Amino acid sequence: MSSSHEHVEEEAGPKILATHTSAGGKVVRSVQIVRPEAQDTTFLAAGAKGFGITLKHFAKNLFSPLRSKAERTKAGAPDVTKAWSEIETIQYPEEKVTYPERFRGLHRLLMRDDGNVRCVACMCCPTVCPAHCITIVPEESDSKGIEKRPAIFEIDELRCVVCGLCVEACPCDAIRMDTGMHAGPVEDRGDAVETLQSMLKRGIKSTAKQGGEGPNWRDHDHSHDGHSHK
Ligand code: SF4
Ligand code: SF4
Repeated sequence: MSSSHEHVEEEAGPKILATHTSAGGKVVRSVQIVRPEAQDTTFLAAGAKGFGITLKHFAKNLFSPLRSKAERTKAGAPDVTKAWSEIETIQYPEEKVTYPERFRGLHRLLMRDDGNVRCVACMCCPTVCPAHCITIVPEESDSKGIEKRPAIFEIDELRCVVCGLCVEACPCDAIRMDTGMHAGPVEDRGDAVETLQSMLKRGIKSTAKQGGEGPNWRDHDHSHDGHSHK
């Protein structure tokens, strides 16, 4: 069966020890399988390490001193007179931390100066949405120079992954996620669906500074402009 034997250089993947050509003319390779070491398959070391981290946090939470009033103020505690330890959790909703300026909250839809929704139903946001949670049904617009507007605009907040791509994709500055609000608790899934009306109602509220450019984007404050242009 055999004919020629030759050693080949080591490459990525299984180590090839030798190749030979069979009587049928097929190239046959002898490979060496590298099995993982015992410590890599038992997870004992990783398990012990994780247990150590858990113990460290437990001890820290058990023995840590209470935070000072100044520290509690800095952390955004609404009631700074209340004792607060270093335990890495907060008594939500009584206690809330201050979110970053660019925290993405519930969606809102903006209006033009004439009071109509800025959305022109271009379908960019439902196209880019990775969760497929935006539903838009367009209709003809009666505004001059504008072809379409949304008759239905819904976002299922239970499916939304809060990625903000819809805001980035919008060419009209019609949708933003700067309300600073969480999606509220609901009993029925249908109640988690934001509608055109509910998102328009939220239109003038904003916690973020948007429209900034360059490294000093924070200096450009358009946070009050629920009805203005970008
Ligand atoms: S934030 Fe992301 S997931 Fe949510 S509606 Fe916008 S694009 Fe979709
Ligand atoms: S990307 Fe903007 S204009 Fe286009 S459908 Fe979405 S919200 Fe409307």
